[in-house]
Amino acid sequence: MAWEIVVGIETHAQLLTRSKIFSGAATAFGAAPNTQASAVDIALPGVLPVLNRGAVELAIRFGLAVGGPEVIRRRSVFARKNYFYPDLPKGYQISQFELPIVTGGSIQIETESGSKTVRLTRAHLEEDAGKSLHEDFHGMSGIDLNRAGTPLLEIVTEPDLRGAKEAVAYARALHSLVRWIGICDGNMQEGSFRCDANVSVRRAGDAALGTRCEIKNLNSFRFMEQAIEFEARRQIELIEDGKAVEQETRLYDPGRNETRSMRLKEDAQDYRYFPDPDLLPLVVSEQDIERIRSEMPELPGARFRRFTDQLAIAPATARVLVGDKVLSDYFEETAQGASPEVVRQAANWIAVSTNARLNDRNIGIADAPVRPRQVRQLIERVVDGTISGKIAKEIDEVMWSAGGTPDEIIEKRGLKQISDTGAIEKIVDEVLVANAKQVADYRSGKEKAFNSLVGQVMKASKGKANPAQVNDILRRRLKG
Ligand code: ADP
Ligand code: MG
Repeated sequence: MAWEIVVGIETHAQLLTRSKIFSGAATAFGAAPNTQASAVDIALPGVLPVLNRGAVELAIRFGLAVGGPEVIRRRSVFARKNYFYPDLPKGYQISQFELPIVTGGSIQIETESGSKTVRLTRAHLEEDAGKSLHEDFHGMSGIDLNRAGTPLLEIVTEPDLRGAKEAVAYARALHSLVRWIGICDGNMQEGSFRCDANVSVRRAGDAALGTRCEIKNLNSFRFMEQAIEFEARRQIELIEDGKAVEQETRLYDPGRNETRSMRLKEDAQDYRYFPDPDLLPLVVSEQDIERIRSEMPELPGARFRRFTDQLAIAPATARVLVGDKVLSDYFEETAQGASPEVVRQAANWIAVSTNARLNDRNIGIADAPVRPRQVRQLIERVVDGTISGKIAKEIDEVMWSAGGTPDEIIEKRGLKQISDTGAIEKIVDEVLVANAKQVADYRSGKEKAFNSLVGQVMKASKGKANPAQVNDILRRRLKG
């Protein structure tokens, strides 16, 4: 019996404002406990929240990126979500409920079976809660309210995702997008980007969705994948044993790779939502939307199409480049003013070679010691025949470890490609004399022997002989 895994994701993205959503306190990470909590954040009596315009603009940016002006509500409302928890001194969280700032929109993801549109239900503004600290206190808990009132955008998908891999593809696409448009730093360790995964299973072909469980606070893509896989298996086993899945909130324990029940799922009505009388409805004007739209960077989808359509870059390569805005900006800088062939090769180089070096060193492109001008010159020297692709790799290695421009390194190390026919013929002849057996093999029809001879010539020239010429000359000599 085939099972289908259904997932909907809720993400809390911390918005990149310097101050909180309803107070002037700073949002910087890592300050001493309770040094960034104002009277509003700790809910002293008589204080009133004042909405941070910056947070609203970032939410509008998001709406424009996922659906354009149509998905932005011109009048949205803040509501109180009532619950008790020690790190929530007001006794309620200010959020948006019936009228969120963004309704609808979608995000495109790449799956094993091609491109897929994931529908967004909504994105709403809310404040974060504080943090309870249990570890450093004996027989007590500490409360740090620095995070209380930090602006969040909660982004909710429809239950459109099928399985753990698709859920992770979505989370990665969203992560890339929020950083791309500059609304969130995406730092998962610091909790700036946290996902909850709602998981249910049903028999393939069933129309109705199964009962879901919500796995809270997944703070890495790997944990998200493992948690969803575990949870789906757990639910399938329950149903196959004739039991029912109970709707509940669960936590993932990476140490044991399992999910555990945290509490039964509360319903919206348990929160007794009502419009917050301390805050006016949020009204967004057409001029605001137009201005924010004019300040938006080119979006990843548009950039992908430009790369593939105008620059003739292979879709797989273009996809890698637009996976990260800084990486694709780096490529654009490299491609500036270069010939079409240099542009094409530079795209491959950055998507494959540069990317691999970043991964090895575990750094981002912003910290790469080799800059676009150096990459451009390197590719230009390959395209104009000064060096071979193999020597280019060697030069790249030098640039990454010791710096310098390709031209300097070619000059200093004498790496210029040998394209002088006479010089190559001399090396070829020496190699033929020294490898009589391979020559005989080739003449008796073993094509492999030819490649081995090419290899010998390249080696004898220390990789500097022009490979195309080596091929030509070898063929000619072997015919004679
Ligand atoms: P709540 O706000 O109580 O968490 P919602 O109905 O808003 O509940 O849904 C939250 C998330 O759960 C959404 O991403 C939605 O797509 C997803 N979801 C709802 N029903 C299911 C289901 N049966 N299986 C998987 N995901 C679901
Ligand atoms: Mg929820």
